[in-house]
Amino acid sequence: MTYSSSPSIIKTTTTSSAAKRNKSTNSNSNEKGNNNNIDDPLSFLNEIRSKYGHQPTFLQAIEEMATTLSPLFLDGDKQEAAFHRRAFLAMTEPERIITFRVPWMDDDGNLQFNRGFRVEFNSVLGPYKGGLRFHPTVDDGVLKFLGFEQIFKNALTGLPLGGGKGGSDFNPKGKSEGEVRRFCESFMTELHRYLHPSTDVPAGDIGVGGREIGYMYGQYKRLTNKHGDGGVLTGKSILCGGSHLRPEATGYGVVYITKLAVEKKLNRSLEGMRCAVSGSGNVFTFCAQKLMSYGAKVITASDSNGVLLFEDGMTQQDWDTIVDCKQIKRDRLSSLATGGKVSGRYIPNETPWSLDLNIPFDLALPCATQNEINKIDVERMIEKNGLLGIIEGANLPTTMEAQKVIRTYPDLIYIPGKASNAGGVAVSGMEMSQNAQRLTWEPEEVDKKLQAIMYNIYQQMEDLGGTLEQGANIAGFLKVSQAMKDLGWIY
Ligand code: NDP
Repeated sequence: MTYSSSPSIIKTTTTSSAAKRNKSTNSNSNEKGNNNNIDDPLSFLNEIRSKYGHQPTFLQAIEEMATTLSPLFLDGDKQEAAFHRRAFLAMTEPERIITFRVPWMDDDGNLQFNRGFRVEFNSVLGPYKGGLRFHPTVDDGVLKFLGFEQIFKNALTGLPLGGGKGGSDFNPKGKSEGEVRRFCESFMTELHRYLHPSTDVPAGDIGVGGREIGYMYGQYKRLTNKHGDGGVLTGKSILCGGSHLRPEATGYGVVYITKLAVEKKLNRSLEGMRCAVSGSGNVFTFCAQKLMSYGAKVITASDSNGVLLFEDGMTQQDWDTIVDCKQIKRDRLSSLATGGKVSGRYIPNETPWSLDLNIPFDLALPCATQNEINKIDVERMIEKNGLLGIIEGANLPTTMEAQKVIRTYPDLIYIPGKASNAGGVAVSGMEMSQNAQRLTWEPEEVDKKLQAIMYNIYQQMEDLGGTLEQGANIAGFLKVSQAMKDLGWIY
């Protein structure tokens, strides 16, 4: 199977595979990708399902991917289908997971410990590439889910990047500047042994922004005395070898692909479209900014405590105030609830997706975290709010049950995160190229390349002929499986 020969597979087999799945009442396989159980095309995953039951988000990422790939696993040429099942199984096992102790001193002089991880998932296309997350919920299962998604996301960019993810269960919230710096330095003291521009190149994610990348890169330079090896970490400040537009890239990329989908699928422009956006961190910030620049109305922002609702769309001043609150003061959105600081109103203990207020909006852009949109949210948004599309800025923000509902609305635009939020890693790839060349590209050049990559990702999804979700997953999978076959890693 080559990448270009796949479009007909989606069209001819999706329905039959779905029907076969519906008929299935049980599955009883421990096959290692070699059998073909027509009652359940995904029964070859049973061993993984039982082995990794304690890593539910990792299993969720596998199931989501496998569900849309099921035509490849079941139909067509039997040998080819068996190869795809073997390839998929091989891809679910990381090449390596590094775990380590991160000791650090708090402001009272106490010794604290956290767990550090780097999941080096798949290097077939290039050095392991993917962010570092600092959040109390981080464990090996969460990082495996993120690393697994990253493999296919990076493949979709067309850049030579493998997939990885890392981080720590350290909670940056409420920590002083000094505590964050000491933690970052200790984290890098261990991690630096595994990094190299040709091996593993982390970036930021939740809880890791420009400040944390700066501290970690500073420690890397102290430890190695290699000032030219900027390509070991991306998301650096411009002064220290970063790329223009890296902070903006994920959010801008989300909007570039949204714009394409809205124009092509709805024959509309973003001008005047009402967009609910979640989060108030990096991805939210630049997603909201770019949406407003196209004349769209951003009606929400959120953090883990509540939502700011702007029924008529947020203003530039609102956006500035949110950025100042979250990025500069590192405060909560609840601090903007009173005193007329923003034009919207604050609603505690809700998300943009749980609000039951009969407020119309066209697009949902989840930009906070995994599983933030559930089945009930999706049903309500479609039936009551008039939703036309969900474009994911976060990784895996919709639950499996929500995705099942989405798949029953073929006209709903649905772009999974591995396609729509790939702009961040794409510009990280460009940062690596600039570091290797010892050059800094102009912002316009980076932006042009970013737009071209997002356009190309959209084309890959569309060319495969099924839904955009199927297109993203199948295009990414076929590239990685072909490359692994070329290297003799699977056969
Ligand atoms: P940030 O840390 O900058 O912001 C995260 C935002 O999400 C904050 O507003 C945070 O609120 C909120 N949030 C985090 N956890 C939860 C939760 N459990 N419930 C509700 N809200 C929550 O992270 P990013 O903006 O960088 O990342 C957001 C998403 O985008 C993640 O899924 C990430 O994996 C994904 N992503 C990021 C990329 C990047 O380049 N940064 C690239 C591709 C994907 P609070 O302040 O209360 O914690």
